[in-house]
Amino acid sequence: MDSIINNDKQAKMAHHIQKNQRRSYEELLQGNRDWVQSELDQDPNYFTKLAAGQNPDVLWIGCSDSRVPANQITNTRPGQVFVHRNIANVCVHSDMNMLSVLDYAVNVLKVKHVIVAGHYGCGGITAALSNRQFGLIDNWLRHIKDVYRLHSVELDSIEDQTQKVNRLVELNVMEQVYNLCKTTIVQNAWRKREDLEIHGWVINLNTGLVKDLDVTANSGEELGEVFNLDSEENI
Ligand SMILES: [Zn+2]
Repeated sequence: MDSIINNDKQAKMAHHIQKNQRRSYEELLQGNRDWVQSELDQDPNYFTKLAAGQNPDVLWIGCSDSRVPANQITNTRPGQVFVHRNIANVCVHSDMNMLSVLDYAVNVLKVKHVIVAGHYGCGGITAALSNRQFGLIDNWLRHIKDVYRLHSVELDSIEDQTQKVNRLVELNVMEQVYNLCKTTIVQNAWRKREDLEIHGWVINLNTGLVKDLDVTANSGEELGEVFNLDSEENI
């Protein structure tokens, strides 16, 4: 008797979960239809124009966190920002995904600004500062632990854990700006044109506002000797 009641309970629960699952999925499709309609209400040709092509001025390299979408943060529209996102906005020189996006943005789209955008309270940075294992992601977070190692004296002097995380958020953005400057993609582009700048930002989720870290780079002049590469012709 008990097992019949339990089976009945389990069946009801499974039905309830399935219903919620279906609803959360249907909401996405409905959201899409609502968005299409609201755009068409304002401009009946909106999607014809959107489909014609893109000409963004900006490449955004941000965190995968769901709270930091590039377009909303910068109040821009589809077509204005080319986007690459990963956990903790890391730019690794052997990451073919990031390099492909960067190369296409710089050399084909000819973007004028590359923005590395971190955010305070970043879960990836918090995890990197801990000793816990999180699985496969630990290997990705190693890149951030390397940033910590470069700045351990400063970071170890900060007692408050939130402040320590937030300072590493800033330092991580600065290091990733530096990493981008070290790529052949950016260095070769700087030889050919003067309108490419790499910026470092941090988003404050408590206010929505961006803090410009004021580390904008527009030439390889300040890179260390070893990282400032000769031009391609000298190969
Ligand atoms: Zn994050």
